[in-house]
Amino acid sequence: MNVVERLLRSHVADAPAYVTARSRYRGGLLLDANENALGPASPEAPADLNRYPDPANGELREALSGWLEVPADRLWLGNGSDEVIDLLVRILVDPGAPVAVVEPSYGVYAQRVRAQGGVVRGVRLDETFDLDVEATVAAADGSALMFLCSPNNPTGNLLSRERILEVLRRTRCLVALDEAYVEFAGGDARSESLVSLAGGAGSESDEAARRLAVVRTFSKAWGLAGARVGYLVGDPVLVDAMDRVGLPYPLSSLSARTATRALAHVDEMEKARRTVVRERERLREGLEALGLTCLPSDANFLLFTVDGPGRVQESLAGDHGIIIRDRSAMPGLPGGLRVTVGTPDENDRFLTALREVLR
Ligand code: PMP
Repeated sequence: MNVVERLLRSHVADAPAYVTARSRYRGGLLLDANENALGPASPEAPADLNRYPDPANGELREALSGWLEVPADRLWLGNGSDEVIDLLVRILVDPGAPVAVVEPSYGVYAQRVRAQGGVVRGVRLDETFDLDVEATVAAADGSALMFLCSPNNPTGNLLSRERILEVLRRTRCLVALDEAYVEFAGGDARSESLVSLAGGAGSESDEAARRLAVVRTFSKAWGLAGARVGYLVGDPVLVDAMDRVGLPYPLSSLSARTATRALAHVDEMEKARRTVVRERERLREGLEALGLTCLPSDANFLLFTVDGPGRVQESLAGDHGIIIRDRSAMPGLPGGLRVTVGTPDENDRFLTALREVLR
């Protein structure tokens, strides 16, 4: 039995897929799906929006498979990476079962685990916000699933590749590595991403590689947060379970089309990425020039610390209309505020306002 099959919740192992007539018949006169053959009622809607999307998202799947250089059957596409996170919990975590979640990290992991009746087993990152391998391995005991985030939200740092691999080798669970921000990391980190390992580039017999799933999104470097397109790269057995348990059409055809077209503009994405990285560093210098401590970041945001973070957040919002995120209640982040890198003009406005608020 494949190691991923062993990790699936027992009822998922043979949960039937929802099969549409179109999974069998490709083209023809489409009278199978109770759509409105007259077309969209609104003249402003694209004419083909009366039809359900391709459930397999064939075009996007092929384009993404080409860009990532991973086989198409190792991709699961859904409504933002939040849906990927939620579905992983649904297929792997029984009610009452533990899930190892590193802290401080993206809040949706713990929120989805709790929403689905699982139990969050928090494990602290070390003082540099890298993995504490021993503590993480211990927390994973008895878990079917673990979430890691690199670059980590909200601290911005990459987790060390060696530590991720050691945790993977020394645990038995599915390790979901969320790389939502990886495009903003340095070139070495991007080329060292574990996406190819999750995509099957390792040896077939490598049971640890089968337990690795990389989660990514079009919301950040691709600038398509409103389209809600996220994806997972992982073992085909995992992808198949997600297909069977997930909803029939996880992506709207508008979103799938938008993401497919985006992949034809890798150069533009790269250009925007470079601008964000340049602005991130400028913003960091600006924060440090205000005498603030700011963590180095491989993402499109910065975490800095202030005295009275709640007051600073409120003054920025109330007096200047500038919204940032207060992360000071998270473990290990006293005084922590997170600011997203904006346009050059927005970053200037933010720095000017912050200087005033801190005065
Ligand atoms: N993972 C991380 C680490 C994030 O910070 C976010 C969004 N803030 C997501 C996933 C969710 O992304 P999506 O828009 O693809 O659902």
